[in-house]
Amino acid sequence: MTSAPASPAHAREAYDVVVVGAGFAGMYMLHRLRGLGFSARVYEQGGGVGGTWYWNRYPGARCDVESMQYSYSFSEQLQQEWDWSERYAPQAEILKYANHVADRFDLRRDIQFDTRVERAVFDERAKRWSVTTSGGETVQAQFVVLATGCLSNARKPDIKGLENFEGPVYHTGNWPHEEVDFTGLRVGLIGTGSSGIQSAPVIAGQAKHLTVFQRTANFSIPARNAALSAEERDAFRNNYPEIRRFAREVARNGIYAEQPDRGALDDSEDVRRGKYAGRWERGGLTFMYAYNNLGLDRTANDTAADYVRGKIAEIVRDPATAKLLQPNSHPIGTKRICIDTDYFATFNRPNVSLVDIKTNPIEEITANAVRVAGQDHEVDALVLATGFDAMTGSVAKIDIHGRGGRTLNQKWAEGPKTYLGLMSAGFPNLFIITGPGSPSVLSNMIVSIEQHVDWIADCLVHMRKDGLATMEAGGEAEDKWVAHVNEVAAGTLYPQANSWYMGANIPGKPRIFMPYIGGVGVYRRICDEVAAKGYEGFLIERAEQPQAAAS
Ligand code: FAD
Ligand code: NAP
Repeated sequence: MTSAPASPAHAREAYDVVVVGAGFAGMYMLHRLRGLGFSARVYEQGGGVGGTWYWNRYPGARCDVESMQYSYSFSEQLQQEWDWSERYAPQAEILKYANHVADRFDLRRDIQFDTRVERAVFDERAKRWSVTTSGGETVQAQFVVLATGCLSNARKPDIKGLENFEGPVYHTGNWPHEEVDFTGLRVGLIGTGSSGIQSAPVIAGQAKHLTVFQRTANFSIPARNAALSAEERDAFRNNYPEIRRFAREVARNGIYAEQPDRGALDDSEDVRRGKYAGRWERGGLTFMYAYNNLGLDRTANDTAADYVRGKIAEIVRDPATAKLLQPNSHPIGTKRICIDTDYFATFNRPNVSLVDIKTNPIEEITANAVRVAGQDHEVDALVLATGFDAMTGSVAKIDIHGRGGRTLNQKWAEGPKTYLGLMSAGFPNLFIITGPGSPSVLSNMIVSIEQHVDWIADCLVHMRKDGLATMEAGGEAEDKWVAHVNEVAAGTLYPQANSWYMGANIPGKPRIFMPYIGGVGVYRRICDEVAAKGYEGFLIERAEQPQAAAS
């Protein structure tokens, strides 16, 4: 095994592994690879580590999985020593954490920042990937790991006239690094997903006027964010082995919380309302675990949706505005549920107005206004909280050529196809972290990231030990997995929503439920069994002469 380069200045032409992306996935992948003696190079298009938390610097950005759980578990010392300040840490603190991890594990020397991977071509004879970057550099690697992120390709909407707007236009997913000051400005906010819902109250507190343009009303639960006390932190720290085990193996979504043992219709209306009220008061994502059938049974789901609609009507004083804010187009939870701080109450402020762009879509953006139903809503600045080309967007932007020169985009033209979300047939030695077909975005993502990284690391060690040159998803195993992913999704209410899980937010994108909804515990067991059975379903090619991975 060759030793890793000391710095970009010592970059060389061949590595065991090229990793694309330096978010939480790429960082942990690098750490594992180094520890196992593989040479690795990470390319990151941004100027620093942290991925999501490097790019999404919009006002109000914070995690929606509690920080004591939305954090790495691979280092006992790290999880014991890092102090999260709040129940849901703000973006700046999560970015600080990512930087701390990079320093603590000395990751930067193998990461090349400000460098996009543009192209990756598999050479079938050499059994190597040839990876070309935005800097014009081409390197060879036996393996490529795409740690490119599920929510990393910010989507600017195709709204007529957007380019004519004369004020500043910001996208939440690509926010400037300098502070943006909205004081005294009239701000237009387009989009009411998690990003819009988190940013609206903060922007409203600063701007002269905030106009929110809402296409789809969304369900949101109060975060009840607060400072974390030392006792609260210790409650996690002292029980981390069990908390992390539960999140990995038992919880469907990688979050330690009590699991519901009954359906919503098993309780009387009074009891049910009491349960919802308790969860509303407690705040956070666990609202959806009040019952075990909210994602499965529409009548059960309606009871939770009605409860939230009722709360919106209680909070928002103007009945017409309250009605507009009440979601009616999808079952609760089938679009990623939002977690907010004072979102609905924001509409009681005199400097905030809500414009319905479902009934009357935006006609045009002019030099200084958003035109809806013939009326110009004048604004000085625009915030696009319009989301991402999720799960496949960042992968699709790389020109990836597998066996026979076929591109991944050609193969995925009708929707992504993978075996276990980890590999795609015809693309040997190319791994995806939290790829489509894995639980990824339906889970606490750090749990899913760590599971994938560990699985890939074990796989590479196995290949090195047995002198294997390539491994790839078998076509039959892949077809079966894709069918299974679809079948499990079809048994739930999720496909009923026009969500980014379905690709529905991107015009022309195939409508397929992309993540695996079978649960992280079940999924982990499947992955482990596949590995234990000699990587069942994968095609394995021996090196002509047994050799170390990339020597
Ligand atoms: P990312 O963090 O997206 O990192 C991928 C990196 O790859 C990026 O830095 C990108 O620049 C780089 N990259 C992509 N393509 C290329 C290329 N071709 N060349 C070079 N570099 C490239 N999940 C949760 O579980 N809990 C939360 O509370 C939560 N909150 C979120 C809040 C926001 C605002 C958003 C947008 C997402 C949130 N998520 C949350 C999901 C979040 O994306 C994941 O939790 C996690 O941070 C993903 O890490 P990652 O390393 O897989 O991807
Ligand atoms: P999103 O959920 O996709 O929401 C995008 C919003 O923009 C939607 O309201 C959408 O309306 C609207 N929109 C998109 N294109 C539009 C157009 N052309 N015209 C008008 N409206 C348009 O994106 P997001 O809010 O950035 O969140 C994406 C995901 O990132 C979340 O689901 C979550 O997983 C993660 N995230 C998490 C947090 C957190 O709380 N920690 C915060 C932010 C993001 P439609 O619904 O009608 O399409």
